[in-house]
Amino acid sequence: AGAALDERIAALRAQGVHSVLATFTDLEGTPKGKLVPLDGLPGAVSQGAGFAGPSIVGTGLPRMGARSEYMGRVRPESLRPLPFMPGVAHAVCDGYAGGEPLDTDPRQVLRRQVARLRERGWTLWVGIEPEFFLLRRGDDGRWGVADARDRLAKPSYDLRSIGRNLGFLDDMREALAALGFALEQIDHEDASGQYEINYRHDDALAAADRYQLFKLTAQAVAERHGCTFSTMPKPLAHAPGSGLHFHLSLSDAGGGPLMGDDQGALGLSDAGWGFAAGLLAHADALAAVCAPTVNSYKRLAASDCASGTTWAPVWKAVGENNRTCLLRAVAGRLEWRLPDPACNVYLALAATLAAGLDGIDRGLPAPRPCEDDLYQRHAAGEPVPERLPRDLHEALRGLEADAVVRAALGEPLVAQFLALKRAEWAEYHAQVSDWELRRYAEG
Ligand code: GLU
Ligand code: MG
Ligand code: MG
Repeated sequence: AGAALDERIAALRAQGVHSVLATFTDLEGTPKGKLVPLDGLPGAVSQGAGFAGPSIVGTGLPRMGARSEYMGRVRPESLRPLPFMPGVAHAVCDGYAGGEPLDTDPRQVLRRQVARLRERGWTLWVGIEPEFFLLRRGDDGRWGVADARDRLAKPSYDLRSIGRNLGFLDDMREALAALGFALEQIDHEDASGQYEINYRHDDALAAADRYQLFKLTAQAVAERHGCTFSTMPKPLAHAPGSGLHFHLSLSDAGGGPLMGDDQGALGLSDAGWGFAAGLLAHADALAAVCAPTVNSYKRLAASDCASGTTWAPVWKAVGENNRTCLLRAVAGRLEWRLPDPACNVYLALAATLAAGLDGIDRGLPAPRPCEDDLYQRHAAGEPVPERLPRDLHEALRGLEADAVVRAALGEPLVAQFLALKRAEWAEYHAQVSDWELRRYAEG
C-alpha cells in the first residue's frame, strides 16, 4: 500500500499538485476540510488530518482528552486535482476519534448501512438530481435571483435565462468533466433562477461523495460569477422549491436487477414494492433527515404558486411516472422525491436505505399504485393519502418515534441531530416576521 501511495504522490506531483484538500461533511451536510501539503499525505491516510472535534457541527466530541480530536483519514482512491483550485487535489476522509471509526461521522453512518447491503451481496445504485437556485444579495441586502432579468412568468425550460447564465453553466460543465463526472443534462427548472444539473448514477457511497464534490464545485464556480449556489429548498415564496431526488435501484450479487420486474405492477418486483412500502412506512422520520430545515416544509406544498403546481411531494403514495406522489416508479427504478438540497446526503441515503430494507425484510404490503393527480384531488376536496409532516417539528417527532431510522443513524448521532434541529425550530418560532406585523399589527 505504501508503494502504491508513493506512486500516487509522484503522479500528483507531476500534475502540479502541491496540496491535498482533506474534506469531511458536517451534520448539516456542509463540506469542510483543510489543506495538507502533499508530503503530509501518508500521515493523512494512516493517522488522519486532525481537526478540533467540538468545533465541527454535530460530532458531539468532548472539548479535551483523547477523543476530542476528529481525525479525517484520507481515502487515497478519492484523490482528484481540483480544476478551480490549481495545485490542489480534493480528497474524501472517513472520520475517526480515539483510533476508532467515529459514529457521528455521516460518512461512517452511510458506510455501516452499505455494509449491511454488502453482506447480502446487494448494491444500491443512486442517481442524485441536484436542483438549486443561483441567488445574489442585492444592494438593499435582500436575496433575489442572481440575474434580475430572470424574473420569469414561465420559468420551466427557459432558454433566455440559460443564455444569461451560460458563463456559470459552462464553467460547471468544464469543472465537472475535469472531475470525472459523466454529465447528462442541464436545464432551467420551474422557478426563476432555478437550475438542475444531471450526471450519471453510482453506488450509494460513491454517489454521496460525488454529490458533496458537486456542491463544493458549484459553490466555487458560482462565487466566481458573483453569485451564490443556493441549497435552500424554498428561497422564493409562491414558486416551486428545490428537491434533491434520489433515483434508486438495487442489484443482486450477480449484478442483476432486484427492484425492476417487467411483469410486476408499475414495472417493480416484490423487492421493489417492499422497498417502496418501507419508505412510505418510515416517511415521517425520513422527512426529518431528508428535509431537515424549517424552510424545507415550505417546499413540501402542492400549489402555492402561479404555475399552479410545485411538483413537490406532499402525500405518501407511489405512482407510475406521477410527479404528484412521494415515489415515482420509472423504468424499474424508484424516484424518491422527498430529499431536498439542505439535507446531509450521507445521512439521507443511510436512513433511506435502512427504511427500504426494513420494508423488504418485513414483507410490508405493496401500497396501491396511485393513478390520480393528487394536487387536483386535494384542490377538489377529494380524499388524498396520508400527508407528510407539515413542519420540522412534526418531522422531528417522527424521527424520535422511529426505531428503525434511529438505529440506522445511531443514537449518538440522533441525539446530536435532535438537539441541533430542536434549537433551530425554537429559534424560528421565536421570530416575529414581517408577515405577522402586516397581518396583526393593526388588529
Ligand atoms: N422542484 C420539484 C421538487 O421540489 C421537482 C421538479 C421535478 O420533478 O423535477 O421536488
Ligand atoms: Mg427537476
Ligand atoms: Mg427528478
